[in-house]
Amino acid sequence: MSILVMKFGGTSVANVDRIARAAKRVAVEVAKGHDVIVIVSAMAGETNKLVGWVQETAPLYDAREYDAVTSSGENVTAGLMALRLQEMDIPARSWQGWQVPVMTTSAHGSARIEAIPTENILRKFGEGMRVAVVAGFQGISPEGRITTLGRGGSDTTAVAFAAAFDAVRCDIYTDVDGVYTTDPRICDKARKLDRIAFEEMLELASLGAKVLQTRSVELAMRYKVKLRVLSSFEEQTDEAGTLVCDEEDIMESNAVAGVAYSRDEAKMTLTGVADRPGIAAAIFGPLSEAGVNVDMIVQNISEHGQTDMTFSCPNDQVLRAETALNQAQARGDIRFEELVTDQGVAKVSVVGIGMRSHAGVAAQMFKALAAEGVNIKVITTSEIKISVLIDRKYMELAVQALHDAFGLDKAA
Ligand code: ASP
Ligand code: MG
Repeated sequence: MSILVMKFGGTSVANVDRIARAAKRVAVEVAKGHDVIVIVSAMAGETNKLVGWVQETAPLYDAREYDAVTSSGENVTAGLMALRLQEMDIPARSWQGWQVPVMTTSAHGSARIEAIPTENILRKFGEGMRVAVVAGFQGISPEGRITTLGRGGSDTTAVAFAAAFDAVRCDIYTDVDGVYTTDPRICDKARKLDRIAFEEMLELASLGAKVLQTRSVELAMRYKVKLRVLSSFEEQTDEAGTLVCDEEDIMESNAVAGVAYSRDEAKMTLTGVADRPGIAAAIFGPLSEAGVNVDMIVQNISEHGQTDMTFSCPNDQVLRAETALNQAQARGDIRFEELVTDQGVAKVSVVGIGMRSHAGVAAQMFKALAAEGVNIKVITTSEIKISVLIDRKYMELAVQALHDAFGLDKAA
């Protein structure tokens, strides 16, 4: 017996007709002999609506009740999908998270899955059930309260089920037909990738490519779950979509697999801070407590015992960052001359496991940007990623130039 996990995102179950279409896909896999675990999202727009109701009712809401409300969208689609499959004479039933049970931490609103006991569902498969339809995004805490896994969390539900049930594959049906070398909306030469390595996908997801929840990619990488991203709106073939897999399963690769960007970044610089042990902790401690997601960090060379510290964060966290830093200064925990904020920057990154073996990727990137007259403000690198901060108005130009420079319109 082989188990396949199929996950349908909000647009793929947006109404009763689309649920019927998705059910037909499931039927194809059942006919091939798989037992199928279907993970469903809420209908498109439903979760946003539920979140809105919560905020309208109680701006400083109790997170346990937020989860009680926002998890409900998935219950509806799970039941409807099971009904549809039954109408097609496929033995199916729905499961809410707590019924499985999907056991999570009690971090309401962003709980983590701790365990998924498989007995209940396996027993039903043993009794002839062919499809278990599971409500994504939700679980149950040790206290017995309903939890949710954070926005986009049903991707993580799907991967966690694939790992727990040792599924042959985890197919993620969405409204795009795969993972692209860059965003096709800003670069018309963007190309769909047939395969991408877990680590590359992880970088792209955390850089803001919205196809998969970052956490789901981490989980897939840890448990080596073969993940396929594909569209539920196009004809299905065995080669459809993008396979997210181990790098050993990728034969040839370009040095760079993709170009990612994040439009709404800010760059903040503290000038004239003392260069002494503990200074970075004194600056970034309060920022982290204030919930500021600091990304790039650069410390300048020091002169006369003083240095400048530059970091980037999302644009909508600037106020929070300024408040935290000014308060730390008022308390006497840190001293700086000036806090200079630049809210007009964007981050552009190139990502690829091929960088480990190809020399000169950074130089090639900087040359391509220079040729377009794009000034680089901050640079950071990791083993498989190079990111730069540039003026936001050049972002699209930079993405297109890098896509050309690394020949991403052509397969390796
Ligand atoms: N419905 C939830 C959301 O919109 C979970 C998901 O669809 O992945 O975030
Ligand atoms: Mg999603």
